[in-house]
Amino acid sequence: MATMQTAQALDAAERVCAQRGVRLTALRRRVLGQILKTEGVIKAYDLIHDLSSQDRSIKPPTVYRSLAFLLDQGFIHRIESLNGFVACSHPGEAHETLLMICDGCGHIDELHPEHISEALDRAADEKGFTISAKVVELHGTCRACRDAARERRATP
Ligand SMILES: [Zn+2]
Ligand SMILES: [Zn+2]
Repeated sequence: MATMQTAQALDAAERVCAQRGVRLTALRRRVLGQILKTEGVIKAYDLIHDLSSQDRSIKPPTVYRSLAFLLDQGFIHRIESLNGFVACSHPGEAHETLLMICDGCGHIDELHPEHISEALDRAADEKGFTISAKVVELHGTCRACRDAARERRATP
């Protein structure tokens, strides 16, 4: 995400926190900023490395606590299949999420298709299952990577 968008997203997070009466502390802000700046997914290990190389006083447990806070507030999503995190494109609203993850370039698109949510509700109902989080992760190839592959094939 570009610097300008990162600043706007941080300001938006600040406003949501103020409305909810929770605090976006300096470290939480920094952790969120680092995730926003990263194109695609960032692993906790890399996040901690990036942050602690900027500031030696930042230790893993505090980063994990900040991540838990940001997840709770819906500012980021955890990507289980990649063991990492991505900034939410609709922060501050509770929502079901469909993440399309390109295995070629690492680009992640976040979508919120209504009917998928209903299908998941129906499936869960039938099994008597209570859903606590609706995050669907799709792996594949994004349009840019697909087009690039086509071009490579077309050029002899
Ligand atoms: Zn989201
Ligand atoms: Zn791609």
